[in-house]
Formats: sequence, C-alpha cells, structure tokens
Amino acid sequence: MSNANREAPPSAGRAGIKRELPEHFRDYRHVWVFIELERGEVHPVSFELLGEGRKLADKLGIQLAGIVLGPPGEATQHAIAEAFAYGADLVYLVEAPLLADYRNEPFTKAMTDLVNTHKPEILLLGATTLGRDLAGSVATTLLTGLTADCTELDVVDGSLAATRPTFGGSLLCTIYTLNYRPQMATVRPRVMAMPPRTDKPVGRVIRHKLSMTEEEIITKVLGFNLDRQSAKANLAYADIVVAGGLGLGSAENLQLVKNLARAIGAEYGCSRPLVQKGWMPADRQVGQTGKTIRPKLYIAAGISGAIQHRVGVEGADLIVAINTDPNAPIFDFAHLGVVTDAIRFLPALTEAFTRRLS
Ligand code: FAD
Repeated sequence: MSNANREAPPSAGRAGIKRELPEHFRDYRHVWVFIELERGEVHPVSFELLGEGRKLADKLGIQLAGIVLGPPGEATQHAIAEAFAYGADLVYLVEAPLLADYRNEPFTKAMTDLVNTHKPEILLLGATTLGRDLAGSVATTLLTGLTADCTELDVVDGSLAATRPTFGGSLLCTIYTLNYRPQMATVRPRVMAMPPRTDKPVGRVIRHKLSMTEEEIITKVLGFNLDRQSAKANLAYADIVVAGGLGLGSAENLQLVKNLARAIGAEYGCSRPLVQKGWMPADRQVGQTGKTIRPKLYIAAGISGAIQHRVGVEGADLIVAINTDPNAPIFDFAHLGVVTDAIRFLPALTEAFTRRLS
C-alpha cells in the first residue's frame, strides 16, 4: 500500500465515506483490468478480474476495459479476443516487440502512458509475480494508491472499497483511495470466481504506441530457466487438492498425502508450519500467505483450520477434514468431517480409491 491510500476513518464504515470528489476526478472513467500475458499465455486471474471489474463498472455505470501489452503476433491477438470473451467492452492495446518478455521498464512505461492518456478510474491487476512487480512501479510512478492482495472489491459512495486482511489475517480492513486517481488494487489468483465465458469475438480496440527504445531499458532477458518442480505445482487451479498439516507429525508421513493425491489425480499441498520446517516447498503452501485454491474437492489431513489457512481454502466446493480433535476449528467450515487419526486413515482411503478407480 502506498502513502496515497487512506484507511477510512473508523466512523466512516461501509455506508458512509460520502465526500465531494475533486472536479478533475470527473476526467477519470472506466474500470481497467490488466490482461496478463506471459510467454504466450494469458493468466486466468485476468479473467477473474474481468468478472469483478464488470460488477464495479456496472455499479458505476461506466465501461470495462482490458489492457493488453504484448508483442505483435498471435498470442497478443488471442489475449484481446479472450478479454472480450470474458466481458471487456473495449481493449487498450500497446503492441511492440519490446513487450515480448516481461520487463518492468517497458511495461511500466506502456501502462503509465496509457493511464495518463486515457485516465481510468479503477485499475486492477492480478497479484501474481508479474502483476505485483508491475502494480507497485505503476502506482509509485503515477503517485497513486495501491491496495494489494484484496479479497473483496466494491463501490461505496462512488469510490473503490478495497478489502484485504490485516493484523496477520485476524481482521479485514477496507481501504479507499480518496485523493488520487486511478484507484489501484491487486487480487491473488482464485480469490475471485471465474466469470462465464461468452463468445463475443469483436469489440473496440484502442491502440497506443510504446515510446521507448531498447537502449533505454537496463534489463535484458538472456533466457528462461524454469524450475521444473515449481512449474508442476498448479495448486491454485487444481480440481482436487489434498493437504497435510502438523498433525501428520513428520516429513515422512507427508508421503501419505502424496500417495492419496496420486491415487485420485490431485495436487498436494500443506499448511504453513510444514513449509517453515522445510518439509514442503513454499509453492505448496495453502492459505493467506500461500496459494488461494478453489478446487471441487479439498481434503485436509491433520490441519487445525486457523483463519490464515481457512481464507485460502473456503472457496472449495467440498471440504473434507480429517482431524483427531472433534473441536478443531476446521470442522466449523468443513462440509464433511472425519474424527480420526489421519496417519491410519489416509492409507485406507488411498487403498479404497485405488481399488475403485483401477
Ligand atoms: P496445528 O494448528 O498445530 O494443527 C494440527 C492439527 O492436527 C490439530 O488440529 C490436531 O488436532 C490435528 N492432529 C494431530 N494429530 C493428528 C492425527 N494423527 N490425525 C489427524 N489430525 C491430527 N497457515 C497456513 O496454513 N497458511 C498460511 O498461508 C498461513 N499464513 C499465515 C500468515 C500469518 C501472518 C500468520 C501469523 C500465520 C499464518 N499461518 C498460515 C499459520 C496459521 O496461523 C496456523 O498456525 C497454521 O495454519 C497451523 O497449521 P496446522 O493446522 O498444520 O497445525
């Protein structure tokens, strides 16, 4: 969050931040969503944000625009078509060979020039590695407010109400950018629901030139070295996730979680203490400071269900909790609870699934 944000005064609440907005704010219009295109792929968080952006735009009675920054070619054209398919009314496009691979300088230049020219009221980006890097530099270049990792977006008295966890996840605060424009926010993948895709292949595309040369860019991309392990962990978009917690007692017992995951074609994950102990890599952590997931089925074994874990999993369609303690907080939000020893139960479950599925 930059200094341009202000937390609403305690008395303001959600119902009343009404104030006279400066006259020049009337120049700012449209809700913009950054369509994140990296190495030929559009990140699905962009579509989730178009879904949220649509609601905000409708409340404000303004249009929803997708922002596509990319190199000339098929991938960029595909990103434009997908932006329309997920609800954008128009697309602002900066197409330039310098935007082939993500680098902070040309992307920040393209985005800030677009903002200064076309003046959006709200600008949303995914809180991905790329999106976080870009959002921070765009907000500081424009001297405006950015609320990071929002869990809820709304419009209150004409301003963006951006809600996010605070104090370690024990409280939610709603932040308004009342004095600056655009109002910027990032949202992590899977926090918002995926909107329906409609076939709407055409729309208005407004082109803008990138006024930057290669010589002005310090960063050079020499190549890509993909971490194969991380690349495989696709927790956020998995249909089934099995996760283990401290209740499993040892790093060795995590094999029980992996075995079940393999048997049912799931991804596996864990609670934060397991990452802190070095039992699992950080990209397998589920929760507020890990991944937010929305699988069809989430199986949590030996996880207590602390609030920081809960916020990352409560979007799952079906939550099954296995815990020895019938009073564990996870049973407050699990759809199905099994009060038993996970170390004995997981192998039995794996065997039952293996028999049934083979
Ligand atoms: P515990 O709370 O110790 O729970 C273990 C559970 O296992 C207990 O309920 C116990 O009854 C049960 N159990 C014991 N033995 C067995 C057995 N044999 N079979 C079955 N059940 C058994 N946590 C996250 O997970 N993700 C986050 O992203 C995250 N972010 C955080 C951010 C901040 C700023 C802070 C302060 C904390 C964060 N935490 C996060 C930590 C969180 O508060 C909890 O400490 C953590 O989730 C607890 O992990 P756990 O459930 O595995 O362990």
